[in-house]
Amino acid sequence: MSKKPICRLLRIDLSRESTGVELLSEADHRRYIGGASLACYHVLKDSTPNSDALSPDNVLCFAVSPLTGTAGPGFSRFTVAAKSPLTNAYGEAEAGGWWGPELRYAGYEGIIIRGRATKPKYIWINDGKCQLRDATHLWGLSTRDAQAAIRQEVGDDRARVALIGPAGENLVRYACILNELKHANGRCGMGAVMGSKNLKAIVTRGKSRDVPIWDPDTAQAIARDVHGRVPDFSDSFGTLGTTGNVEYLQLLNMLPTRNFSAGRFEDSSAISGETLLDTLMTGRATCAICGVRCKRVVSADEPWDIDPAYGGPEYETLAALGSLCGVGELAAIAKGHELCNALGLDTISTGNCIAFAMECSERALLPDDWAAGLDLRFGNAEVMLQLIQMIASREGLGHILADGVQRMAERLGPEAEAFAMHTKGQEWPTHEPRGKWGVALQYAVSPTGADHMEADHDPGFEERTPALQAVAPLGLVDTIPATDLGDGKVRMVVYLQLLYNVYNTLSICDFVASPIGPFSIAELVDYTRAVTGWDVSLWELMKVGERFGAMSRIFNYREGLTDADDRLPMRAFERLKESEVTLDQATLASALQAYYGMMGWDPEGRPTQAKLAELDISWAMEHTD
Ligand code: SF4
Repeated sequence: MSKKPICRLLRIDLSRESTGVELLSEADHRRYIGGASLACYHVLKDSTPNSDALSPDNVLCFAVSPLTGTAGPGFSRFTVAAKSPLTNAYGEAEAGGWWGPELRYAGYEGIIIRGRATKPKYIWINDGKCQLRDATHLWGLSTRDAQAAIRQEVGDDRARVALIGPAGENLVRYACILNELKHANGRCGMGAVMGSKNLKAIVTRGKSRDVPIWDPDTAQAIARDVHGRVPDFSDSFGTLGTTGNVEYLQLLNMLPTRNFSAGRFEDSSAISGETLLDTLMTGRATCAICGVRCKRVVSADEPWDIDPAYGGPEYETLAALGSLCGVGELAAIAKGHELCNALGLDTISTGNCIAFAMECSERALLPDDWAAGLDLRFGNAEVMLQLIQMIASREGLGHILADGVQRMAERLGPEAEAFAMHTKGQEWPTHEPRGKWGVALQYAVSPTGADHMEADHDPGFEERTPALQAVAPLGLVDTIPATDLGDGKVRMVVYLQLLYNVYNTLSICDFVASPIGPFSIAELVDYTRAVTGWDVSLWELMKVGERFGAMSRIFNYREGLTDADDRLPMRAFERLKESEVTLDQATLASALQAYYGMMGWDPEGRPTQAKLAELDISWAMEHTD
C-alpha cells in the first residue's frame, strides 16, 4: 500500500530527563528532507546562540532520511550535528554501518538532544519506546566492552549501538562516535559533545523493518537495477576500497607526508592498500544494504595484537597515522587504528596532531616539559601509539594535543602556526590541495573546517572520464586542469558541493552515488520520487543542498566566524617539493569572491536576505544579527 513519508523526531532533554515526540510538517519535511539538512535546520533553530559547544545548551542532532533503510544500495548513513568543540563552528559527521536504518525501523527519523545528565546515561530506543538508562558502570570502558555490556543489558545481540569511548568522556575535541566498533562519525568532535552531556550511547532496535514507500514497484525496480551493477563496482572499487589512494596519490606526488612537508613517502608501498590486502587483511566488512563491501578487516598477533572487531584502516587512517607521521610500519598503523576505535578518536585529527607535535619537536619549538622524555622524531611508531593513548586520557603532552593543532599552535606562536595544518580549527584530511585546487577551495569554504568529502576531487575531471560524463546532468561538461581555480573550476566546486549536500541530506553513501559509484543522478531523483511520493526534480534537490549551505553559513556567522576564517595555513602557499606549481593567495582570494557570488552571498561571504528568501528560509535572517 502506498504510504507517504513522515518525519518523527524524538526530543530528549537530559537535564530534565524528559522525552517527547514531534511530527515535522510535510512542507518542512520536503524542505529539509533529512540527514544533514534536517540536522542543520535543528542545530541552527534550536541551539542557544553563542553557547559553549560543551555546555548543556548545545543541541546534538541525529538524523536519517526518508530513503534510509529502503532497498536501494547505500542508504545506510546518518548524520550527527552540533556546534563543534573543535572549531566553534557548525559541526557535522556522517557514518555508515547499521545504526541509521535501525533508528528508522525503531520508529524515528531524528533525535534532538539538549541538556546534560547529572550522571552517565545511555538512551535505549526499542520499537518506538524510549528509555534513559544508567551508564555509570559503562563510563571509562572501551567501545568494545561498553557495546558488549549494553547488548547484554538490553538482551539483544542485534541492538545497534552508537557510542563514545574514553576520549569522548574526556572531552577530547576531536572525539568521534562509533557504531559496530568500526563505522565512525569521525569529524568535528561529535563524541566530545556526547561526553559533555554525560551520554555514553544511543541504542536502537526495531523489529518491524517497515518504512513508508509511496510506489514500491518503481522503487524496487530502480533498486534492482542499481544492485545489478554493484558486483562490478565491488570488484573495481571494493577490492582495495579507499586504501588504493596510497599508491595513487604517491604516483601524483600528493601523498601527504611528514605533516604535509612533502608529497612522496619513501615507504608508501609498505603502507599501501595492496600490502594491507596481502598481509594483515582477513576480510571485508560492509554497511547495511550494500554489496560493495569496501571496508577492511585486519588482525595480527605480533608485533601487536590487533583485534578484528574494530575493522581496519581506510586510506585516511593509513596516511594520517602513516605517511603524515613518517611511520612506515603497517602493523603499527593498524594497531593505531584499533586504538582510535577502541578509545573513540577521529584518526584524521589524531594523526595530524601527532605529526604536528613531531615537526614542532624536530624544529625545537616544543618546551621541554611538554615533550617530557618522549622521542618525537618522525617515524617513531611506538611514540605514535603511545600518544594516541595519552590523547584519549589527556595525559601529559596528550592533554595539549587533545585540543587540536590550532590551539596548540596558538600557544607556540607564529612559527608553529605557519605549519599547523587546519582550517577553521579542523585538521586537514589527508588530501593535498596544492595539487588539486578545487580541494583547496573546498577546504577554505567548508562550514565544518577542512573536509575532503565536500565534492569530488579535481583529477577526475582533467580528462573526458566516466566521472565527467556522470556529472553532465549538472551541466558540467568541460575538462579543467587540477591546478586551475578560475570561474569554471569554482562553478564546478559549487555544483558538486551542492550535489554532495544532497547526498548527505538523502543519507546515501558518497561511494555508492555517482560519480564514484553506480547510482546515477537521474536514478537517484527517480528513486526519491518513488519512495516519497513527492514530485521532486533534480533542481529541487539541488535547492535543498543550497539551503543546507546557507543555513550552515548563517550558523557560523551567528557564532562569530567570518570570511576571514575561509583561509588556509601558510604552508598551503609554499611550493610542494615535488611540484612545479604553487597556489598563491591572490588566486584563492579571487576564487573565494567568485564562490560567494555564485552562492548568492555578499562580498564578505554572508548569505543575503534575497538569497534566504529565494531558498524559502527567510526565518534564518533572525540568526544573522
Ligand atoms: S560503499 Fe562502502 S562505505 Fe559505502 S555503504 Fe557500501 S560498504 Fe559502506
